[in-house]
Amino acid sequence: MSKNEAVAVTNFIHQIVEKDLEQGTHQGKVVTRFPPEPNGFLHIGHAKSICLNFGTAEKYQGVCNLRFDDTNPEKESQEYIDAITRDVEWLGYTWNGDIRYTSNYFDQLYAWAVHLIQEGKAFVCELNGEEMRQYRGNLTEPGKNSPFRDRSPAENLALFEKMRDGGFEEGEAALRAKIDMASPNMNMRDPVIYRIRKAHHHQTGDKWCIYPSYDFAHGQSDAIEEVTHSICTLEFEDHRPLYDWFVANLPVPATPRQYEFARLNLNYTITSKRKLKQLVDEQHVSGWDDPRMPTISGLRRRGYTPESIRNFCDMIGVTRSNSTVDMGMLEAAIREDLDAKSPRAMCVTDPIKLTITNYEEGKEEWFEVPVHPKDESMGVRRIPFTKNLLIEREDFAMEAPKKWKRLAPGFAVRLRGAFCVTCEEVITNEQGEVTELLVTYDPATKGENPTDYKPKGVIHWVSADNSIPCEVRLYDRLFTEANPDGDKERDFLEFINPESLSVFPNARVEVGMANAPVESRYQFERQGFFAVDPDSNADRLVFNRTVGLRDSWAKMAK
Ligand code: ATP
Ligand code: MG
Repeated sequence: MSKNEAVAVTNFIHQIVEKDLEQGTHQGKVVTRFPPEPNGFLHIGHAKSICLNFGTAEKYQGVCNLRFDDTNPEKESQEYIDAITRDVEWLGYTWNGDIRYTSNYFDQLYAWAVHLIQEGKAFVCELNGEEMRQYRGNLTEPGKNSPFRDRSPAENLALFEKMRDGGFEEGEAALRAKIDMASPNMNMRDPVIYRIRKAHHHQTGDKWCIYPSYDFAHGQSDAIEEVTHSICTLEFEDHRPLYDWFVANLPVPATPRQYEFARLNLNYTITSKRKLKQLVDEQHVSGWDDPRMPTISGLRRRGYTPESIRNFCDMIGVTRSNSTVDMGMLEAAIREDLDAKSPRAMCVTDPIKLTITNYEEGKEEWFEVPVHPKDESMGVRRIPFTKNLLIEREDFAMEAPKKWKRLAPGFAVRLRGAFCVTCEEVITNEQGEVTELLVTYDPATKGENPTDYKPKGVIHWVSADNSIPCEVRLYDRLFTEANPDGDKERDFLEFINPESLSVFPNARVEVGMANAPVESRYQFERQGFFAVDPDSNADRLVFNRTVGLRDSWAKMAK
């Protein structure tokens, strides 16, 4: 999809923005924000939110802020801040001004909490957690007022200062908004707006031992930044009345509006930072950027391009109804992007020796083949042909099945870009495993079809004498179940696919790939799309398969 087509993509959020612009709401400005909590790496679901927030601002000449929602110091870290920042940049978006932090506004948020106390709209509650739950009621029963609800503003002020100064232990006191314990919306039943956490904060150090709740911090931070459209996922719909209540009851400088959209769910994977963290912590994967992870950094390492992820987000659209997107769509997006861009190469992942008995030892012929079959401008590459070659073990069968289009005893095939060869003899070891194939080549078949026989098919190969040793890592889906999170009885970890990673340590790639840089991407002919892994070093290239050439899962499903 071109940039212009991307601008043409529309959704209900864009329609809201257009109406606001027409009516001059928010003084004709569009300010959005992406507000991750730095408690994990970003995943593909976040990409949807990033594309929506940054994309909407871009489309309407507005700006989008990057704000770390850092009100839970125990779970957050600088490592996550750095990773998230890197991922947003890599996706190709530029945030407005400096990186922002909710913690930048702690002084102001504190002052607004004091304002609510002074207005009689907040109180310090000393019920413990269990009591607070009991007083809260439930969906069918109204809650009860806290016995501390009628404290005077002066008393509340003194107690709130005591909270701030460390005079209470965690859980002994909390500041609550005074709204309505009988509200049918549980979020409005005197929600906690400040709680005690005696924790070091990655941005504010030990300055605070009380931290605002998400609900108290979010709308006010939006207002401080003059965010116009605060776009979040549907689970916050029930929080909107509270968001609006704070904005209405505080002297905030602007009136942001919250809009909700459906989160992205993708089958065969999970999009929950908490569960992804569990996969990392319990070493089911090699890290947050393991190429099997649905994290942005995992997808990047796997070989996904920023364009493919943005195109995917355009393809799935933005609505208000929850649904699950097929992993095949994400794979189709990367296949489409890489097919057009990737240089071609030949790589043999699981080699078997192929010796040409009628070819001179030590001779080397160089063949020129196109870098891209559909794009001449990408030029040609040169590959050496020698007596000793390697082909894919899978491309040989001792007993050819019906319609076998590869090599077998007595069969002739074309070696891609080079000659036709006929299999004359099969050498096996004591265990009966095939160790070498002896073939003859047909010198008349360089760029020409043989006249007296028909080769069965075309297979890829490399020179055994002049190719680069490498490691190839093939990936399959991380879970065997479409909805690994959907089983009430069984934990998602039980559905991890034990075959999600296959490593081929003895692979060989054509010699021109010697200096392939980390993250460069290729199509290995007949095999799929591959990217150079950061584990590569001067002695050893490592390739990750990004995606196969065809959707093999769709075929299996049929
Ligand atoms: P998780 O449940 O994975 O921990 P989160 O919502 O707690 O996600 P945040 O860091 O708070 O993570 O998310 C930042 C923004 O990204 C929020 O606005 C959130 O609504 C959005 N977001 C998170 N997950 C998804 C998803 N699966 N699809 C779309 N948007 C998402
Ligand atoms: Mg969150």
